[in-house]
Amino acid sequence: MDLIQAAYLLVAFLFIMGLKRMAHPTTAKSGIVWAGWAMLIAVLATFLWPGMGNFALLVVALLLGAGVAWWAAVRVAMTDMPQMVAIYNGMGGGAAATIAMVELLKGAFESAGLMALAILGGLIGGVAFTGSLVAFGKLQGLLNSRPILFPFQRPLNLLVLLLALGFGLFLLFSDATPAIVLFFLLALLFGVLMTLPIGGGDMPVVISLYNAFTGMAVGFEGFAIGNPALMVAGTLVGAAGTLLTLLMAKAMNRSLGSVLMGGFGVEQAAGEVTGSLKPIDVEDAAVMLAYASKVVFVPGYGMALSQAQHKVKELADLLESRGVEVKFAIHPVAGRMPGHMNVLLAEAGVEYDKLKDLEEINPEFPTVDVAVVIGANDVVNPAARRPGSPLYGMPILDVDKAKNVIVIKRGQGKGFAGVENELFYADNTRMLYGDAQEVLAKLTQALKKL
Ligand code: NDP
Repeated sequence: MDLIQAAYLLVAFLFIMGLKRMAHPTTAKSGIVWAGWAMLIAVLATFLWPGMGNFALLVVALLLGAGVAWWAAVRVAMTDMPQMVAIYNGMGGGAAATIAMVELLKGAFESAGLMALAILGGLIGGVAFTGSLVAFGKLQGLLNSRPILFPFQRPLNLLVLLLALGFGLFLLFSDATPAIVLFFLLALLFGVLMTLPIGGGDMPVVISLYNAFTGMAVGFEGFAIGNPALMVAGTLVGAAGTLLTLLMAKAMNRSLGSVLMGGFGVEQAAGEVTGSLKPIDVEDAAVMLAYASKVVFVPGYGMALSQAQHKVKELADLLESRGVEVKFAIHPVAGRMPGHMNVLLAEAGVEYDKLKDLEEINPEFPTVDVAVVIGANDVVNPAARRPGSPLYGMPILDVDKAKNVIVIKRGQGKGFAGVENELFYADNTRMLYGDAQEVLAKLTQALKKL
């Protein structure tokens, strides 16, 4: 038992250090490795737990789980990462709920307090499990990604939640198997019902919330069964997930309450945009860049889709070698997950100190000769400053204040929020149409000839 406790102490240390290292891009990769080692040690220590049996079954389950996870992680495209996080996270919630169910069926709790923790963890874990599965379905296109609404939805959701809570309370006084089963079925049902009315746009915030739920559920089960590794890992994930959820909601200018109420993005206000789209060809764009002294690249979801980060880096290097000052403006919700742009640009080798966040770069835009928008749309839409726009209130990058703007995108495609972008029609904006990766490669070639 001493060996197990010592292993768990090491696990706790590695988890905390791993998380700390994940806070900075240069150490993030090693942070993940540290946390991975912690996970491995925690799993191995489980084999030493007194009374542990069924080893063959354990090994088969582990090999199956690890095999599927490895295969999926290697294959997944960067743009599909949110749904991958959703499904893995859901599995964690499901595992916590299963622990709660088995322990409740065994009826082995020392005190009512521990039992209450197990019940609470079971409820939250069950909700996180089915909620994450629905979120996965919506993001993967298996389910309609729009909010799914029906009459009396809110009263029904409230009723199911109250019933689940009622049965949870009842379990404190009774260990009847049907009540336990019903309690978990209600928790699972509530997870589905809670997620249906939430639209694809808000889904990443919800996934982050379920991530926090899973952490809390695991933490509660850790306290209930006296397992320090679960306590530490669960508490860390619960706290980090809660903070991330709040930060994401804030960056999208949505309150968490309104995200959970659902129905966002059902009706769309028509944008009134004046002016015309003014195309530019690669050669003219290259000339514009060649004679600039300060250029800011503004990447968005289109850069991720096109996997254009290496081409951006090549162009940035070429500009710098010609004496141009180059920076990258990073919006907190550019792309489809927090840190999406940072991860891609870091992968391409862009130095971290060239990535400037919104507060830092916005005052600089009036002094920028050319801002190059690469597949970004909502995060540079000035409509966000106008009351009444669906984007109103979202902080944006003030690209329209730059002296010249070049927008690289394939055509007239709207952004995530489906709102027309006034920036594209502005007098100082030129549209450079095409796939980001191809356009950037051509731009680099054209610039080399100048
Ligand atoms: P948007 O989704 O608003 O716009 C992306 C643009 O990229 C489109 O207009 C599209 O236009 C263009 N594009 C697509 N493919 C390519 C390509 N191959 N080459 C060039 N351009 C391409 O992206 P933003 O990054 O500006 O905004 C992110 C949005 O996602 C925000 O609304 C944010 O709230 C939301 N969101 C972000 C989350 C996060 O955590 N980061 C989470 C949830 C939502 P076209 O089709 O004409 O090429």
